[in-house]
Amino acid sequence: MRHFPIFVDLAGRRVVLAGGGEAALAKLRLILKTEAHVTVFAAEPAREIEDWAAEGRLRLVRRRQEPGDALCAALFYAGNDDEAEDARGAALARADGARVNMVDNLGGSDFITPAIVDRDPVTVAIGTEGAAPVLARAIKTDLEERLPSRLGLLARIGKAFRPEVEALPFGRARRDFWSDYYFTAGPEAATGGETAIKGALSALLSRHKARAAAPGRVEFVGAGPGDPELLTMKARRALDTADVIIHDRLVSPDILELARREALLISAGKEGFGPSVTQAEIDAAIVAHARAGSRVVRLKAGDPAVFGRLEEEILAVEKAGVDWSVVPGITAASAAAAQIGQSLTARGRNSELRLVTGHDMDGFAENDWHALARPGTVAGIYMGKRAARFLQGRLLMHGADPATPVAIVENASRPECRIVTARLGTLAANLEAASLAGPAVLLLGLAPREAQAAAARIDTRIQQMEHA
Ligand code: SAH
Repeated sequence: MRHFPIFVDLAGRRVVLAGGGEAALAKLRLILKTEAHVTVFAAEPAREIEDWAAEGRLRLVRRRQEPGDALCAALFYAGNDDEAEDARGAALARADGARVNMVDNLGGSDFITPAIVDRDPVTVAIGTEGAAPVLARAIKTDLEERLPSRLGLLARIGKAFRPEVEALPFGRARRDFWSDYYFTAGPEAATGGETAIKGALSALLSRHKARAAAPGRVEFVGAGPGDPELLTMKARRALDTADVIIHDRLVSPDILELARREALLISAGKEGFGPSVTQAEIDAAIVAHARAGSRVVRLKAGDPAVFGRLEEEILAVEKAGVDWSVVPGITAASAAAAQIGQSLTARGRNSELRLVTGHDMDGFAENDWHALARPGTVAGIYMGKRAARFLQGRLLMHGADPATPVAIVENASRPECRIVTARLGTLAANLEAASLAGPAVLLLGLAPREAQAAAARIDTRIQQMEHA
């Protein structure tokens, strides 16, 4: 960035412009929006300039610029439609100590004038350092359409109303109020003019005061397996509006990126067997923030209702008398199945799907091994990496076929996804050899579909680890 954008206070300051033609007119239309004292030097001024002089909006001196004309000027514009004359004027103005802009001459200018979207007091300045004036114009047109034309009026009235808004608690309540005013209530009332806008402001303030007195709430939101595009629209909205986001360590950074900038992010750090915050501490944090009036998003990997301790947390929130709701997400087993191109159920193969955990609070989890060992069984085994040897042993003991396929999908839906194929008989050995570091789901009874396996070889690493 060679040119640093700033807003210069021109109230009562002297601005000098040399020139009386098209270039001068274009700049004057902008400068006359300010509260500067404008002086124009022009031997042959355009009609408009004469009119502005007659209206007292600028001082017109009917001669070319001379030494000393730009003394005490905050800004000087050379707009003579004549390169040589501009260069002469710029040199004179610099000698007078003024900052110089030469119209259409980036290299000869000390400062440049951006494209402006004017909703005074809201001003948007767009600059491309001369690289792409077309782009600047396109952005300007876009913003002109997007910003309500009465935004300036809204901002002026809003500014005067600020002291009354202090009745709302600092932070989110006030931000929400202003956002409603500028983007909904304000523009709607604006056609009715100043009185209507003021009325709308008062009504809005009453509504927000009532809302601020209301307690916070908790949303248990599924973040899906990691790919941000697998978030539901409700999850997206929840992330957009949350005050506090308490997330699992497994929630991918790409998804946390989407959180509202002002939101407080808290990592609840529960993962595998590692050191973790206790469940009681998590429950307490959720309740405390909701009680303080915050919109809390309890963000969980996958679906919050699958191995997510949802039940415990709902109970804690209910006990505290706080409102809650659940936004489901795509669970890891679904993402893993998609990754290997398989269906989790299939007519004639399995009419039942089991979601199983490899370990629970007491260690390796006991399951209905008889059912799992039956031919044709399909199960998504979560948290199964460390339990692989135990799982393998139990299943074989209960009569499962050692040739049963198992697809292990690590980091399903993420760019670093890896697929390891195995047979039950060698599951533990294969898993150990693959040394997976990320979260992985074991799909018992499924192997990657052939075509899918071929595709996966191209964009993910697939490891064929089947022993004879
Ligand atoms: N509620 C989550 C599961 C949480 S338990 C869900 O519905 O997906 C944590 C386990 O989920 C991990 O040990 C792993 O088995 C699985 N998991 C989560 N994200 C995964 C991913 N992107 N790829 C593979 N497995 C994942």
